Amino acid sequence: MAVLEPLEPGPGERRRYRLRSPATLEPIGELEARSAADVRTALEIARKAQREWGALSVDERARVLRRAVRVLLSREADVVDVVRRETGKPETEALAVEVLAACDALSFYARRARRILADRTVPVHLMKTKKLRIAYRPLGVVGIITPWNFPFLLALNPTAQALVAGNAVLLKPSEATPHSGQLVEEVFRAAGLPEGVLQCLPGDGETGRALVEAGCDKISFTGSVATGRRVAEACGRRLIPCTLELGGKDPMVVCADADLDRAAAGAVYGAFANAGQVCVSTERVYVVDAVADEFVRKVLARTGELRQGAGGEADVGPMILPSQLEIVERHVQDAVARGARVLAGGRRNPNTPGLFFEPTVLVDVDHDMAVMREESFGPLLPIMRVRDEEEAIRLANDTRYGLNANVWTRDKRRGIELAKQIQAGSAVVNDCMITYGMPEAPFGGRKESGIGQVNGEIGLRSYCHAQAIAVDRFGGKNELLWFPYTARKTRLLQRAMRLLWGTPLGRWLS
Ligand code: NAD
Repeated sequence: MAVLEPLEPGPGERRRYRLRSPATLEPIGELEARSAADVRTALEIARKAQREWGALSVDERARVLRRAVRVLLSREADVVDVVRRETGKPETEALAVEVLAACDALSFYARRARRILADRTVPVHLMKTKKLRIAYRPLGVVGIITPWNFPFLLALNPTAQALVAGNAVLLKPSEATPHSGQLVEEVFRAAGLPEGVLQCLPGDGETGRALVEAGCDKISFTGSVATGRRVAEACGRRLIPCTLELGGKDPMVVCADADLDRAAAGAVYGAFANAGQVCVSTERVYVVDAVADEFVRKVLARTGELRQGAGGEADVGPMILPSQLEIVERHVQDAVARGARVLAGGRRNPNTPGLFFEPTVLVDVDHDMAVMREESFGPLLPIMRVRDEEEAIRLANDTRYGLNANVWTRDKRRGIELAKQIQAGSAVVNDCMITYGMPEAPFGGRKESGIGQVNGEIGLRSYCHAQAIAVDRFGGKNELLWFPYTARKTRLLQRAMRLLWGTPLGRWLS
């Protein structure tokens, strides 16, 4: 049964869907998808609202973020409820990863935005008669398109950054989790955000396409590689910037000197948290031969302790979309057909009505298998035995993705050196996944995992245009490089160049 079931629209009506809980398959509401005309109207409203919002000081805008934290604390149970209804994820996970992380992001940007977005005076190395200011100007209206796996946090986090930078936002949440997206608008409204500055446009892929085509000043997209490519093409045609936070196939490297208890617990958490539906989840493990047997034993023991279900104390929830569950099944079938062994799980959970797939551990896997090459985005933990760390790094890089990675060793310095050898946008030593949750860390993939970065100083500034404003310091009637051009001026320039870049004194001066 589909979790998102298209309904027949009446003449002149918008596209409609019936939503069901992925945990119980019971109906949980309907979605009426916003049309292209709705998107255009929203853009006009946003343009008008942005003028006043963008003219406020960063401090005034940050105050709204600070109030949003208080609103979130008072409505924490609502958010957890809505997110759980739409995704079925365990309560602790909804609280920790959606609400706690959202409060942290909001308070981080509320506190740091003034410094990060303040005008900067940059020392000028050659043109000493000029001053240079860099001013971070809002872009205008930012279109934010988000997925269903962390439907509240992944909508709120880029929205908060775009808003505090002075932009208006049109937010298009995933069709599978529209109510979690709408909550983001509600929280900011309750925090005093002026009318029209943030508008949520629940809808499907067509609504997303209309948003990209509507004429926003930037698109901030989080989702799959396939859709990201379409978004990038459309932004390219319109010559507007976009950041793309896309899928991954994150490797875990377990060195011979790793703390195996911690590494095994980290592997189980990294692969099965949110039922593996995390862009930075651990999707493949390379463990050095000398410790492989012991590592696998510990992983299996930990996996056996996991409780799956929709109840309050469950560890592993359901898959959110049937199509995603089918990908996971296909990856297991393909791996088994090519010689892999299933040591745990490997099938839908027969004890639940919803979209539950059992936490699955696979061994004897190799790079001919889809499970080691394509994003599974589900509760699969394929473990491959390797000769040494060098082979692990080579295989970790044998992929079209490059989002995140994790390395496990008692030698932290070596861990950092190994992490640097992995072509991934971010990496973690002796832990996993945490980079997205650290607002200080610029986050964004390499290769097909994305373009650009969110979070941190770089991410916040990417919602602005860094406008360079050069100011003359001393005045005077003319400048050396202005008209008229004369032979004497040419000789003077030649002499100046030889002095500046041809002598030690000049090199020191410049
Ligand atoms: P998706 O690409 O199917 O959809 C993402 C969003 O794009 C949805 O809101 C959808 O309605 C919209 N959309 C669909 N077609 C569109 C179009 N033509 N133009 C504009 N918008 C369109 O992705 P999903 O299935 O919702 O999410 C899962 C994927 O997201 C996984 O690949 C996962 O790795 C990735 N993801 C990445 C990050 C990250 O930060 N890198 C975070 C979470 C999820």
